Amino acid sequence: MIDSNCGYWQPQEPRLPLEEALPHVEPLTSEFNEVTVRISGRHIHISQADLEQLYGPGYKLTKYKDLAQPGQFAARETVTVVGPEGVIEDVRILGPVREKTQVEISGTDGYHLGVDPPVRDSGDLEETPGIVLVGPAGAVTLREGVILAATHIHMSPEDAKELGLDNGDRVQVLVDGERDLIFNGVLIRVDKNYITEMHVDTDEANAAVIEDGDCVTVIGKVLLS
Ligand SMILES: [Zn+2]
Repeated sequence: MIDSNCGYWQPQEPRLPLEEALPHVEPLTSEFNEVTVRISGRHIHISQADLEQLYGPGYKLTKYKDLAQPGQFAARETVTVVGPEGVIEDVRILGPVREKTQVEISGTDGYHLGVDPPVRDSGDLEETPGIVLVGPAGAVTLREGVILAATHIHMSPEDAKELGLDNGDRVQVLVDGERDLIFNGVLIRVDKNYITEMHVDTDEANAAVIEDGDCVTVIGKVLLS
């Protein structure tokens, strides 16, 4: 008997036969199946109202540098994030402003701050932890909005067509490197304004020994039946 807390090894019937529990993947038929990975450091998307609370009435974000995704930019403005157990300074705001403020951190940041955010797709903030943001002109107490961003691939419509994928599909992605790792259920986000690249956070990059700009392989589409 293996000593483990995992339910599968308890003396009871497993909930699913193992072969059914594994994700079913439909391999891609296209020749092209490699995408570039970008590592997203911790960052904040901010609402105009929260920005004004932090930086003063009428404040507008100023551009520090463009990001690869057209229209998106790193702002010069940063904020201090204050959690129940720790503080992180100089967290970059990404522009343009959004309808709701969203704080994207790594799990390691979460331990440091004393918050335990769930893995969520961007914009899905219901029942996520709040946090305090401090800027030069004031502070904002968020009631929700801290997430670990779900692993995703931004994709142009042309590339999606080539790969036979649609917006909202989930795929498996192989990192073939120093430490082989397969990401499962990576969300495909298709938009005419996107260029194709996969985004991972710093914990994911460290776990898979990924460097910014590495190439990874899309294995196939996860069939959610
Ligand atoms: Zn992204």
